[in-house]
This record gives sequence, C-alpha cells and structure tokens, in this order.
Amino acid sequence: MRALTVTPGEKNTLRLRDIAEPSAGEGQVLVEVLAVGLCGTDSEIIAAEYGEAPPGQDYLVLGHENLGRVLDAPSGSGLAAGDLVVGIVRRPDPEPCKACAAGEWDMCLNGKYTEHGIKGLHGFARERWRADAQAMVKLDPGLEDVGVLLEPTTIVAKAWEQINRIGQRAFFDPHTAVVTGAGPVGLLAALLGVQQGLDVHVFDIVKEGPKPELVRDLGATYHSEPLPESGIKPNILVECTGVTPVVLDALKCRAQEAITCLTGVSGTGKQTPVDVGALNREEVLMNGVVFGSVNANRRHYDAGAQALAKADRAWLRRLISRRVPLENFGEAFERRTDDVKVVLDLSRGTDGGSSHA
Ligand code: BGC
Repeated sequence: MRALTVTPGEKNTLRLRDIAEPSAGEGQVLVEVLAVGLCGTDSEIIAAEYGEAPPGQDYLVLGHENLGRVLDAPSGSGLAAGDLVVGIVRRPDPEPCKACAAGEWDMCLNGKYTEHGIKGLHGFARERWRADAQAMVKLDPGLEDVGVLLEPTTIVAKAWEQINRIGQRAFFDPHTAVVTGAGPVGLLAALLGVQQGLDVHVFDIVKEGPKPELVRDLGATYHSEPLPESGIKPNILVECTGVTPVVLDALKCRAQEAITCLTGVSGTGKQTPVDVGALNREEVLMNGVVFGSVNANRRHYDAGAQALAKADRAWLRRLISRRVPLENFGEAFERRTDDVKVVLDLSRGTDGGSSHA
C-alpha cells in the first residue's frame, strides 16, 4: 500500500513509497485512512528538525492529524466496520511512568512516549493502519467532513481544560480572552473560548484572506495590530504562534491574575534581549500564571469531539481550505496565501472511486 514517508534526520526526503500492509500483531482493529491534516510539525519533520523513525527502521510514515473508517473490528471491541475513528497521536511509554499509567500520556514524565507520525511510531499518511481499540476514538458519523480537525481541537481542548483548572486556584471570573495566531490551532482555540461565553480577540498579522472573516463569523474580534497597541488586557491568553516577539508581547499584556497558556513550539537558537526582572516582577505582583501545554489524552479527544459537534459545521468546513489527493502531496506542502488547514485526501483509494466529498 502507499505511504508518505520521510527519512528522519535527512532534509527533504518526503516521498510516496510502497510499504507492507499492517500486520495482525499491530492491533485488532483495521482502519482505512480517509484524511490526514498537515501542520507545522510535519514541515519541521520534513526539514529534519524533528521526528524519529520506529526502532530498527530507516523511515517514518508521516501524518498525525487523521480521520479513518474501521474496515474490520472484533466483536466486543466497541467498534464495528464502517465506524468513523481518529487515531490517538501519543501512546504511553512501554514502561509506564505514573502519568502514562494513569492515562495522562500527554503529561508523560520520562519522555519515553511515542507519537504516530512524529516520534518512534508510523503515522497515518498511509492507506491502512491497525491498532487496538483503546488507541482510537469513535466519532459521530455526522462529523465525517470535519473529523480530521479533531486532533488539533484536542490540543486546544487540553489547553482550555488546564486554564480552567488553574483558574480554580482562587476567585476566577474571566471575561476577556486573547488568542495569538489565527492558524487552525488559534482559530480552534478561539472557537472553544467563544463556546464558553468569553469575549475573544484573535491577533494575527494578515489583513486579508479567510482568517479575519473566520474570526468575525465566530463572533470573536480580529486584530491585525500588535497586541500591545490594542490596549486589551485579557484574563486568559492562548499563545498559538511560538513566534518569539509575539510570545513576549503575550507575556507582557495581561490583566491582573491572568493565565497564559503557551502552545506554539518555537524554533531555538536565536537570542532575544529580555528584561527578566521586569517580567518576573509583573508575574509576581499580578499573581500571573504562564504554562506550556502539549498533546492530549483521551479526555481531551472526548472534549474536542463535543466542541466540534456543537460548532457551526459550515464554519468548520471553511477551516479546511484545500483537500489534496495523496499522490499530489508536493502540492499540499506548497504555502498558499489562502491556506488555513490543508488536508491530504486518501478517501479516493487507489481506484479513483470516492466515498468522501
Ligand atoms: C501534535 C501533538 C504532539 C506535538 C509534539 C503537535 O504537532 O499535534 O500531538 O504532541 O506536536 O510532538
């Protein structure tokens, strides 16, 4: 079967290759892949800045944002042929740390976790995969056209869960939230903020294209000026760019008792002069919380699926700006101005027949 692979550690080795069908030993449930979403992590893996092949193999099948359909599942597994499923990206480490053992692999303590398409486990940009039922979540059949957005939604579902848990440390009555970055993660973070009844402001540099309108249609406010110029002092801030000057602005422009969640994985190696004394002073005097959040556990997949089910379907569909057939993967990685989320479409299979619009 066809798979989109890279040789981790070597730049620009992205190619389609034929690989063996998944073996029965990989799990009881056989899944056909319908769609794979692409994100910055995939680009970093292609640029050899990140990524690890499964032990003993010299290539990694790419793709962690995914949507599939069960082809075969044993009775009693809770799944049946035809079910829509999403594979959970991170798997607990083989010698579970206490967090992984408690099902909180997103908070893995020893770093030995694996991640499909990223770290030590093949991804989903292949025609079929197998795993046991506990490694996937079942989706409402009505979510077929947008279900590939579940994984990025889980990232922000976790971020919001953590924000709300941290808020419980004391009196907590947030009303204004800022999201920096209007990419898919930022837009989904804004969606979850609006769903909680918050006044959400999204900051990005673009003035045109689909993003400003997507933000407005959500009932949030779009800003193309830098956060400090807006004068907004949010109670909650979700940073979704990882871009150093934006991160710094995010740390500086907050209300008393604000909670700031960092979700963007920055590049490293560049030095930025910072007045650490001023930052520290602000944090202390304002009871500030700044925390990082990565990945998601099953609880966040469930919360993400609920958020998608509640959202306006037409709005979610607009997040998927391009669907590119697997064989045209090169095109999928081209940056176009109107891109929000680009998705590899595998639903047409090898015979050209389509089951998925
Ligand atoms: C994925 C996460 C993953 C993280 C770090 C992100 O792009 O969405 O699931 O944990 O990369 O590898």
